[in-house]
Amino acid sequence: MQRFPNSLLDGYRNFMNGRYAEACDRYKMLAENGQSPNTLVIACSDSRAAPELIFDAGPGELFVIRNVANMVPPYEPDGHFHATSAALEFAVQVLKVSDIVVMGHGRCGGIRAALDPNAEPLSPGDFIGRWMSLVRPAAEQIQSNEVMTAAERQTALERVSIRNSINNLRSFPDIKALEEAGEIALHGTWFDISTGELWVMDAETLDFIRPEV
Ligand SMILES: [Zn+2]
Repeated sequence: MQRFPNSLLDGYRNFMNGRYAEACDRYKMLAENGQSPNTLVIACSDSRAAPELIFDAGPGELFVIRNVANMVPPYEPDGHFHATSAALEFAVQVLKVSDIVVMGHGRCGGIRAALDPNAEPLSPGDFIGRWMSLVRPAAEQIQSNEVMTAAERQTALERVSIRNSINNLRSFPDIKALEEAGEIALHGTWFDISTGELWVMDAETLDFIRPEV
């Protein structure tokens, strides 16, 4: 049998002796009562941008969807496989979360691929190119901006993509209705992995600003 990675077994041992041991009553309570997180976070699969770490969240506190470049597709009930929309539906209809946070991050490989489809390490492949076409219109506009540096273009698209995803959240009829009724709030945030800075989208101006923490 193939050996399960030692690094994972070591990590699991530390988890059991540390975080699990400290929170075992909470884990037991969650096992008996089920989960009831108030917040859904849609984050990138990038190994450097884990929302539970960044928001210091314990078990049961965050419902998390992670995909390439933290994107929400538009509402498309077309019978195809929609992993992100299925998890979104569960969070909204069953868990009845009160807040949805779309969290982007700096140096996102998916966003870099959208700006330059030939960029390493991501190539269009069978799935990423199609998935990243969700931001193609914005990417094409930003690509042609020669006043900005490559890094500025990337940060710009990372943030514009967050706004696109929030707009796509509103294409889901139940989310749109809940937001209009004041029962759900949609947020954007962007995490700079190199400095640890967290920027939050202002609901009025749609600009990203650094909150007081
Ligand atoms: Zn990313």
